[in-house]
Amino acid sequence: MKHTWNCLFIMSFIWLMAREWSGIQQFPLATQTKLLELLGTLKEKERDSLTILVMGKGGVGKSSTVNSILGERAVAVSAFQSDVPRPVMVSRERSGFTLNIIDTPGIVEGGYVNDQALELIKSRFLLNKTIDVLLYVDRLDSYRVDNLDKQIVKAITESFGKEIWRKGIVVLTHAQLTPPDCLSYEEFFAKRSDAVLKVVDSGPRFKKHEPLDHAIPVVLVENSSRCNKNDGGEKILPNGTVWIPHIVETITIVATNESKSILVDQKLIDGPNANERGKVFIPLILAFQYFFVIKQLKKWIKDDIAKEPKSSWE
Ligand code: GDP
Ligand code: MG
Repeated sequence: MKHTWNCLFIMSFIWLMAREWSGIQQFPLATQTKLLELLGTLKEKERDSLTILVMGKGGVGKSSTVNSILGERAVAVSAFQSDVPRPVMVSRERSGFTLNIIDTPGIVEGGYVNDQALELIKSRFLLNKTIDVLLYVDRLDSYRVDNLDKQIVKAITESFGKEIWRKGIVVLTHAQLTPPDCLSYEEFFAKRSDAVLKVVDSGPRFKKHEPLDHAIPVVLVENSSRCNKNDGGEKILPNGTVWIPHIVETITIVATNESKSILVDQKLIDGPNANERGKVFIPLILAFQYFFVIKQLKKWIKDDIAKEPKSSWE
């Protein structure tokens, strides 16, 4: 018995240890300081937890980005079978603050978005979770956007509502590159982010040319261990950005912006049209009532009046 209790105690201790965000200590001192500062800012705004949902095509670097932010190999990364088969939520605690990151498998199958897979992620995994930030991940070193990208954005919008994009950040991985065609790094980044944003912005819009009243931030990421470093040992991009504190800062800004976080409740899972479905029949029911009930009633009343004996004074 005593042995069992000891085992349980050790197991829960290991579990608690595992939940501590120890990966933060792997970062260079300057990064650690900045990250703790950002956690402090969140706590000042009375936020003691944050849930980030990571989505995008398979193989773009979603899992690697999760690991980079946490400073540890928390989720599996693979060059070939590039996706985890199901979503994984990693939770880490630091000074009373909990960071939850949900890494999802790519929802593409045979060149199409697998809507059923997305529904399952939503109903089985995300139910009753609140999404504070959506990281929409793609690669910086791709040269075009295609129909599949549009499908993914559409699927996310339909699943979580267009409001999800107010909590969205576009993340472009493989950011340590030398641009082709004599373009400067900034020009290349601008071109690529414009192309991705064109697709992403179509998600929250109802009509094609409707202007968007909020800008979706774009951040660059380089997950490779060969990423260049500054004198302080922090990972930097060709444009000089120290990218880990920068992405965490952008996450805190978006998490605390004026828009509400997205609660994945049963109503959201049933779909925005769940209540609407029955409404299609309302005109039919009214027409039925008019022709078969009201008309009949009117006829009976008319007949009754006609049959009624005239009063003597008439
Ligand atoms: P996921 O399917 O979107 O989760 O992608 P993974 O994180 O599993 O990454 C797929 C492959 O791309 C792995 O071989 C990663 O090492 C590699 N990778 C991911 N991000 C980057 C990056 O920023 N730069 C480079 N050079 N490779 C990356
Ligand atoms: Mg993955």
